[in-house]
Amino acid sequence: MPLPSIDDYPERYRYRYCPRCATELVLAHLHDMDRQRCPACGWIHYALPNLAATVVVEYQGGIVLVQRDINPDRGIWHLPIGHVEYGEDPAEAAIREGQEETGLTLAEPRFLSYSFGPSYGDPRMFYVVLGFSARAVGGALTGSDEGRGTMVLPLDALPPLKWDSQREAIAAYRESVIRSWESGSRSR
Ligand SMILES: [Zn+2]
Repeated sequence: MPLPSIDDYPERYRYRYCPRCATELVLAHLHDMDRQRCPACGWIHYALPNLAATVVVEYQGGIVLVQRDINPDRGIWHLPIGHVEYGEDPAEAAIREGQEETGLTLAEPRFLSYSFGPSYGDPRMFYVVLGFSARAVGGALTGSDEGRGTMVLPLDALPPLKWDSQREAIAAYRESVIRSWESGSRSR
């Protein structure tokens, strides 16, 4: 697949003026691609994908799902997920988002998988989503009367999740559970 050109960029990356000095940007061929460059201060527009983290929360023998409270897709059930802040370790972002969305205190983030693909909200925007697991070690699960709804389901009873990134995280989590079960059996 050819990489997107400037004309394919999502709306939020359609810059006309330099964000640093407000000079009109010009096209320049740099590092084998057409890029926007500021003729005054030299700023170059390197468009990046969004970075997000999602987390498989282990709680009372099950996995925590939260209910989406914004459109599109308000009401669907999903794993806690959110954007990684600038300067934030993605594992810390997974813990933070998981705690914010469930009310639980989380620990032991473990990397499971990553996914890359277009945003379902805007197919011209790309996402890298890093999947982690984490264990609940305290706090209290928020109920639907305290904000967003939550539910806990056994791993084998999870409904199909809408987003690729979350299906991939669950698949990687399942494999890690099987692997640890197998190594546990061998050591017995
Ligand atoms: Zn500039």
